Amino acid sequence: MSPTLKLYDLDAYQSEFEAVVLSCEKADDKKHEGNYIIHLDRTCFFPEEGGQTPDYGTIDNVMLTDVQIRKSDEGEIIDHFVEKPIEIGSKVTGRVDFEHRFDNMQQHSAEHIFSGIVHNDFGLDNVGFHLSDHIVTMDFNGVLTDEQVRKIEEKVNKVITSNVEIKVFFPDKEELEKLEYRSKKEIDGAVRIVTIEGVDVCACCAPHVHRTGEIGLLKVINRQNYKKGVRITIEAGKRALNSFLYEHDMLKALADKMTTSISEIPAKFDQLSKENMELGAELKNFKMNQIRQKIDALPVDTEYIYFFEKDLDMKSAQYMINLFQEKSSGYCIVLVGEDKDYKVVIGSSQKDCLAAFKKLGEYLDIKGGGSLKMAQGKVTDASREKITDALEQVFNAK
Ligand SMILES: [Zn+2]
Repeated sequence: MSPTLKLYDLDAYQSEFEAVVLSCEKADDKKHEGNYIIHLDRTCFFPEEGGQTPDYGTIDNVMLTDVQIRKSDEGEIIDHFVEKPIEIGSKVTGRVDFEHRFDNMQQHSAEHIFSGIVHNDFGLDNVGFHLSDHIVTMDFNGVLTDEQVRKIEEKVNKVITSNVEIKVFFPDKEELEKLEYRSKKEIDGAVRIVTIEGVDVCACCAPHVHRTGEIGLLKVINRQNYKKGVRITIEAGKRALNSFLYEHDMLKALADKMTTSISEIPAKFDQLSKENMELGAELKNFKMNQIRQKIDALPVDTEYIYFFEKDLDMKSAQYMINLFQEKSSGYCIVLVGEDKDYKVVIGSSQKDCLAAFKKLGEYLDIKGGGSLKMAQGKVTDASREKITDALEQVFNAK
């Protein structure tokens, strides 16, 4: 079969084309189960290639499910996957989902500017690129700090507003040998070069915007260390704008809730956080006083006592037990929780808490352990009444 003529190589903006169906057969792999592979003499559909996911669209109103590229002895063939068969020999109209295509063009051109600047300024190479509908990442073979990334981002946006032309061409062998470019690989046949004047020269197969101004803006979303280098996540164009709109709405809603303006959120948050800490400390004091009063009210010879607490941290529960231990040699049992699941702590200065804990296990679904002086764990699926009965059986029987 002769290689497919790649119309997207010549014009990234062509979204409609006519072609002849050269073959149509049932796909035989799991990923494309139930699909048909269509071969056309020419196509505008960009396949999954170079880390970028494929175009969307239709062939004679039949939805494309995937576009792949493969090598044959004659050259590269584009496999179009569709849900219904299309007659061999028929003339068809292909329509690329241009909104999706243009979004990919904005991301990919932005990536070239970013990688070009990183290459020029830091001598690092982009060794991994991923462009899907949800995320764009670039992996560089060296470390970049947050500050450096911020400066690169600034430079990229300057290139975008300068509205520089992006040129695509196929140099002949002689020209290519003289050319300095990124992403050099041993390729049979013509090498497609994408240049952004003063910024980047790179071998690339993907569709790009004509001028950098069409990218609109680039925003770095994340920088993380990755395989001895960094992985940078970016958003460009409408994606970046959409994120800004979403995040602005979120911040506005947050500011309204805090009865302040967006710019005052950090100060307001600090103030609320401080107040919250003060309230927390006050509440803790109040709780501790309550605990002290409860223990103070007990007779000195208390053999065993239990407390059900709806909401108490384990530290306070232990504090409660310690206070009790200073006063009495009996058992103090604290149960924290409500509605069938409780945390339980048993403490005593003189008696065997672990033995008592194990004995409780005869009556309750209880897990945990401890020592002679303190045991703790969890009781599951037991009502307050059931637990009270079990405590009576274990501690009052003596
Ligand atoms: Zn590229």
